[in-house]
Amino acid sequence: MTRHAEGPLNGRLEDNHKRHINYLRISITDRCNLRCLYCTPRGRIPKLPHSAILRYEEIARIAEIGARLGIEKIRITGGEPLARKGFDDLLEKLVIIPGLRDISLTTNGLLLERHLDRLRDIGIQRLNISLDTLDPEKYARITGYNGFHQVWSAVSAALQKGFSPIKINVVALKGINDDELKALAALSLDYPFHVRFIEQMPYFAPGGPENATPLSEADIRSIIAPLGNLIPAGEIHSRGPADRYRIQGAPGEIGFISPVSHHFCKWCNRLRLTADGLLRSCLLSEIVTDIKTPLRENATDAELARVIIAAVGKKPLKMTDAEHKAGCGSRMFAIGG
Ligand code: SAM
Repeated sequence: MTRHAEGPLNGRLEDNHKRHINYLRISITDRCNLRCLYCTPRGRIPKLPHSAILRYEEIARIAEIGARLGIEKIRITGGEPLARKGFDDLLEKLVIIPGLRDISLTTNGLLLERHLDRLRDIGIQRLNISLDTLDPEKYARITGYNGFHQVWSAVSAALQKGFSPIKINVVALKGINDDELKALAALSLDYPFHVRFIEQMPYFAPGGPENATPLSEADIRSIIAPLGNLIPAGEIHSRGPADRYRIQGAPGEIGFISPVSHHFCKWCNRLRLTADGLLRSCLLSEIVTDIKTPLRENATDAELARVIIAAVGKKPLKMTDAEHKAGCGSRMFAIGG
């Protein structure tokens, strides 16, 4: 480790494998208003008790100490982050933290439209919206809720209000939305959206369709190939795990997030904070560091900084093929992707 809590702002937080860790993904709730087949078990899910969930002041304090250590980017996720009351108060606290230059939100978009003005006023520009289909019936089948029009209306309103970039996250689902991947990619021809195809990590809700061999990036590329050549957009891997492309003349982009076929451990720049106060060193491994207990036992900033540094220090160099294939199982909804 090269950084210490007391160091200057915008320092460099490095793990033991010389990777620059500057990105914190914060899940603010384990609860979600959708039950996507590939993410959340259907039926009753045990909820974390209220007291187990970090309060906004606690999250903001961790973010502030993280920023002093060198965290520059924060993404708020869930569960469904907009389903937690007062999420905007947290965003307000985050945008004023010195050193944080990029605060964004991943949402399923159901509750988004009513909050767009407030988000813009707070200064949030970047939105990731999960939308796996353009077919309202299929949307209900995938998510368990008849909400397509609500989400599409929010996407359109976000565009109109100038949010940028608007990233559309599409999990490629064999036998479910593979017939639509071309149409989803073609959104980038008509709109400045960044359409990002995500390889499905192997999990399907019990009772949902079996899916032993998820679509790979290569499968997705061949499905969308008739739209035209993909021209690299931006520096590959400069911003994270999505390879970015553009079809000639398109206002938008197409990206691939391929945790199963292309491991991106080498470029990993992130740390995750779960809603119940665990720092997760790697999406696919169970290595966690409890920061909630010291936080609630009145640890000093320097002590909490050491907890963050310890969590970064536990990041594995890479996960095995088997671990990538196994994904993070049924816990994605709690970790936040
Ligand atoms: N509720 C928010 C949403 O829907 O965007 C944030 C949480 S969700 C867990 C974050 C991202 O993880 C979504 O884009 C979702 O599609 C993705 N995701 C969930 N389960 C997945 C899986 N099994 N494989 C790949 N991506 C998955």
